Amino acid sequence: MSCGSPRLALREWTDLPREHYTIPPYAQHLAPFKIALDPGHGGLSHLPGYKRGPTGKEEAVMNLNVAFALKEFLEAAGATVVLTRSDDRLVSLQERATIAERAGCDLMISLHHNAAENPQVNYASVYYHLYPDYSPASMDLGRHIYFGLVEALRLPQVANEGLLSDKMIYPDGFGLLRAARMPAILLESSFFSNPREEKRLTNLRYNRREAYGIFLGLARWAASGIPRAQLVQPNAVSRDKKPEVVYQLFDGITERGGRGVGQLLAYAQSASLKINGQAVPAQIDLKRKRLSYQPDSSLHNGKHLLQVDLQNMFKNHNLPRVDTLIIAAPTQFITFETPAPKLPADGVAAMPITLTLCDAENEPVWKGTSVIVQADKGRIISEPNSLQDGRATFYYQAGTEPGPVNLFASAD
Ligand SMILES: [Zn+2]
Repeated sequence: MSCGSPRLALREWTDLPREHYTIPPYAQHLAPFKIALDPGHGGLSHLPGYKRGPTGKEEAVMNLNVAFALKEFLEAAGATVVLTRSDDRLVSLQERATIAERAGCDLMISLHHNAAENPQVNYASVYYHLYPDYSPASMDLGRHIYFGLVEALRLPQVANEGLLSDKMIYPDGFGLLRAARMPAILLESSFFSNPREEKRLTNLRYNRREAYGIFLGLARWAASGIPRAQLVQPNAVSRDKKPEVVYQLFDGITERGGRGVGQLLAYAQSASLKINGQAVPAQIDLKRKRLSYQPDSSLHNGKHLLQVDLQNMFKNHNLPRVDTLIIAAPTQFITFETPAPKLPADGVAAMPITLTLCDAENEPVWKGTSVIVQADKGRIISEPNSLQDGRATFYYQAGTEPGPVNLFASAD
């Protein structure tokens, strides 16, 4: 008598499962996103050999058909989709990036299919720009979409890396990913240079299968929650040169109203604050969901760029965001410089006078500081120009009454 479970009836990996397209409940988290889909190429169908498979089928058409199907899935889940082209036209790489940026898209997915000299080659790859650290949020997208694609297409080969750097193709990477001002990845979903794959890629049902795999990847990315950091203090303009910087953190998950565990669902080690690109020793308080930093030395007057990075429990990163902080310490010292000690009291003679404004630490004040000058004789014929390194110049014209002139300046 034999016991145990019945044998697993394993099928071939490349057997495509029955089409079964649903919008999974977790795809609802795509709804807040505006997604740019970029169907590669287009507008060059008059070039006989350009991006065509063994029987002449065009990659540009395959890319567009996948984009249309993916748009349908995404819209069914409530997301907003922007296409960088929706017909056979030439759109430059820079234009594509600009279309996505102008439309306020949160991310961009560029859709391509690959070619190789060896007609046997056929695998899915997802390209990111340069290095994983260049855009961690792009890596999150790439990771989810890669496995969505692999499961959907079940191609005979699987690349060792899966996620590939565009540096492997060009030293500066792909023009589109370089131009993108948002998380972006480029898919080379399969090889149209493979005769069997070329044939499949001309079938709209196969295009939909691919689109569904990408869609599931995007849905899993969104369902994993996108963390966020919101600057609480200081205000955009700080008079204090050592302001405490405080961010409120959101893990992108507990805000959905789950029970939570009374703290931020994120990796404490992953939270960091950069000021002008330099990491500073910020403190994270998971219970209060706050990140704070108290500078121990003065920040310079002027503009500073703040950026928080955070990884939630699903290992998703926040979308990149830069906050601007202006340090504008009050003016403490004002000095005047005149090119000559005297002017004739003829009511005509004039000269430039340079003001220098410094704060209590003798550092030039912020260029946005407003200055007012007055004279008790003669007149100011041009107000101080904009401050540069705490210096501004105005023109003074003599009056007709001789004697010393008192100049007054006041500043914020
Ligand atoms: Zn291409």
